[in-house]
Amino acid sequence: MTAKPHTTDAEEEYLQTLFWLFEAGLPMTGANVARAMQLSAPTVSEMMGRLERDGYISRAADKMISFTEFGRTEAEQIVSRHRMIERFLTDTVGVPWDEVHEEAEKLEHAMTPRFEAYVRSAVGDAATCPHGHPIQVGRRVEGVPLADCAIGAQVRVLRFENEAEDLLHYLKDVGLHVGLKGELAARDADTVTVTHSKGSSTVTMSVAETVTVTADPSPPPRTALPEQLVLARHRYGR
Ligand SMILES: [Zn+2]
Repeated sequence: MTAKPHTTDAEEEYLQTLFWLFEAGLPMTGANVARAMQLSAPTVSEMMGRLERDGYISRAADKMISFTEFGRTEAEQIVSRHRMIERFLTDTVGVPWDEVHEEAEKLEHAMTPRFEAYVRSAVGDAATCPHGHPIQVGRRVEGVPLADCAIGAQVRVLRFENEAEDLLHYLKDVGLHVGLKGELAARDADTVTVTHSKGSSTVTMSVAETVTVTADPSPPPRTALPEQLVLARHRYGR
């Protein structure tokens, strides 16, 4: 590859998702991208072809995707900048954390380098985005899905893996936020309940799959992507 291609908005979205899989240690496959972005396999496959052609990724015969060095650097920058903007929007502008992901998506495509430098200094040394993802990539703290924790476990919310806006609204509505400490008070086949200083929060099991916590005692770490990663409201609503 010789010239650096211009990354389109759509390519950036896909690179972010691929990087999230990479960061989480999950298999980088078209199927996982499709699941994470709730898109059809042919749509994803077409974009993977474009990303490969533009030199961001390579695809092996077994369909495993890997970043090229160039693609990984680009993806890191995109992801880091997105998280930094989110932090800026919540802490400096006052945008609620459940609305900030979509706003950041739009803003990041419109920022000049000069404005970006102001944003960076406003954010200072904040470690994560408002959903717990590290601004400096590579600083991801290991955790476990809330769905795996046992009754009585002391939990602390580390990260919301899925930043789909309607899912973030749901999490906020039930009283969860990153950094919240509580105790896993009840669980059954369908729901998990955490009690904390402000009361209690109950989420469906599929939502609990997307909430990463540190827990004591801790279940073993997961290595597979949950079946339902990104969920439309009708799939997790009550
Ligand atoms: Zn975020």
